[in-house]
Amino acid sequence: MSEGEQRSGADGAGDDRSGDLTELAKRRGFFLQSAGAYGGVSGFYTFGPNGAALKDNVEDSWRDRFTVREGNMEIDAPTVMPEPVFEASGHLDGFDDMLVECPECGESHRADHVVEDNTDYEEAEGLGPERVGEIIAEYELVCPTCGTGLAGQAIEDFNLMFETTIGPGSSSPGYLRPETAQGIFVEFPQLKEYARNQLPFGVTQIGRAYRNEISPRKSLLRVREFTQAELELFVDPERDEGPDLESVEDVVAPFYGIDQQEADDGDPLEITVGEAHERGLVADPWIAYYLGVAAEWYDSIGVDMDRFRFRQHLSGERAHYAADCWDAEGEVDGDWIELAGFAYRSDYDLSKHDEYSDDDFTVFRQYDEPVTVERPTVDPDMSYLGPEFGGAAGDVADALADLAESDPDAFREAEADADGEGTVTVEVDGERHDVPVSQTGFAVEEVTESGEHFLPHVVEPSLGIDRALYTVLDHCYREDEVDGEERTFLELPAEVAPTTVGVFPLMDRDGLGERAREVAADLRERGLSVTYDDSGAIGRRYRRQDEVGTPFCVTVDYATIGEARDDDEGEPGTVTVRERDTTAQRRIPIEDLADTLEALRDGDLTFADL
Ligand code: ATP
Repeated sequence: MSEGEQRSGADGAGDDRSGDLTELAKRRGFFLQSAGAYGGVSGFYTFGPNGAALKDNVEDSWRDRFTVREGNMEIDAPTVMPEPVFEASGHLDGFDDMLVECPECGESHRADHVVEDNTDYEEAEGLGPERVGEIIAEYELVCPTCGTGLAGQAIEDFNLMFETTIGPGSSSPGYLRPETAQGIFVEFPQLKEYARNQLPFGVTQIGRAYRNEISPRKSLLRVREFTQAELELFVDPERDEGPDLESVEDVVAPFYGIDQQEADDGDPLEITVGEAHERGLVADPWIAYYLGVAAEWYDSIGVDMDRFRFRQHLSGERAHYAADCWDAEGEVDGDWIELAGFAYRSDYDLSKHDEYSDDDFTVFRQYDEPVTVERPTVDPDMSYLGPEFGGAAGDVADALADLAESDPDAFREAEADADGEGTVTVEVDGERHDVPVSQTGFAVEEVTESGEHFLPHVVEPSLGIDRALYTVLDHCYREDEVDGEERTFLELPAEVAPTTVGVFPLMDRDGLGERAREVAADLRERGLSVTYDDSGAIGRRYRRQDEVGTPFCVTVDYATIGEARDDDEGEPGTVTVRERDTTAQRRIPIEDLADTLEALRDGDLTFADL
């Protein structure tokens, strides 16, 4: 979708279904393109009152599952970070997408998406720019906006980070974080202290991330500002005992491994998490564990498990340091969308920050028994190095210390040479210097060590909240007929629905309005999320709540205030509770209302039990 199209009010929706959903999302306050009064900008959305409530509930549910129940720590880091962070993380150099520009209309497109959308290639990013350029030429692919051929156009790297300056002047560049994870990694030296240096421990964060996507599209699915919920689990690769896989081993999900993807007619394997791990399909136990936790979680927030799968990264897709990677994917409009990534990242992130910063990102591992080791040391004679190497003397001394550690034999060989008058060679700023071994103070000490420092490994489940929200709305969107009238409703789980209960007076007169407002206030007092509505026919009020996914509605009528004309209208002091999905209604005593609704919301009671 082009920027022009989006500005004119249409949204990234492809077919009727997503069009219906996007229209409902705007009309009913879920989400809308931001700053529409000024024409809007692609890739930025405002969540309306229902969308913001849904988002909060989904985030709370994620927090409950991935932070609270796992015993992890949650942090909240800034969204702007200084350049050195992204130099170390590799984002400055390598966080690029492939851009191809149309020679006719000047529109920019993601070259790999042009390929994926118009050929059978599925993961074109992993093919690299050269091959993608060749495929564009081979298939004579054209600009999605104006139809001009793109063959021969340069495929360029486009860095996705938004740059800014920190403070006045331009001396201190900063970037909006492209992922929340770096905010966790850079604080590791302090976080390990909070965890008392005990591995494994997990740190989570829910927050905004920014990517200057070349062509934002499909509504919330590819935007320029979005929310991530990430967990970084730090483990000791040698001593880790792994997770309690038992708690999720019976979770069944479709696993689309590399072999199944590469087979001509390969389908995902519908197996348990336990089996996926035992077969070696998901080799790492932590990854298997989080896939199980995530499958249960996506199910609980309303993702349709028949339109969900785990897909393993093909080797070309995977970062070089990642041992194994799986994505959670949801089907939306016939496409499989990445909802989350699960990666075993080795010590890559911590090693980079350890190397680039002045801080210590290692953790101390105590040995079972102290061990005695030989430690080569140097104590160079500076009265020799100073006159000999001038300003470089300090660096030469440091280089000698490094050499003693990495290659002590170089010193031993030099000592054996020429009666101890041999030399060792070190390189400083590209220049080689020979130093007589007798001036280096080389010695080998025996030391007893109680443990060693090492860099923990990282297991990362990284989820996108916006993609989860859109998928939930799409998967919960229903159309049916009630009393001969078409109805649209969202079958959202009560736990995440923006409103748990709609409260209506049958009519706003004869004291019914006051009583209904009291009922609403009492329910709010009990912590339920309530919408009060007294406008229009009762049927229309039900439809409005159905459309925003409110699972229950309560109607206050003449029976409630003890003024029913006959018993058919209900016992005195009762209200009608209506269930969204079946539209079934039950009368219950008003004093039981709050308990009943709470139990229904929390899944401790079903409507049929009433
Ligand atoms: P993609 O390949 O689709 O661009 P990614 O592999 O770059 O995604 P990650 O870096 O793994 O994504 O980010 C983790 C999660 O953040 C994704 O699974 C997704 O849910 C979410 N995410 C990433 N980019 C966007 C975006 N532009 N809009 C909305 N959500 C996003």
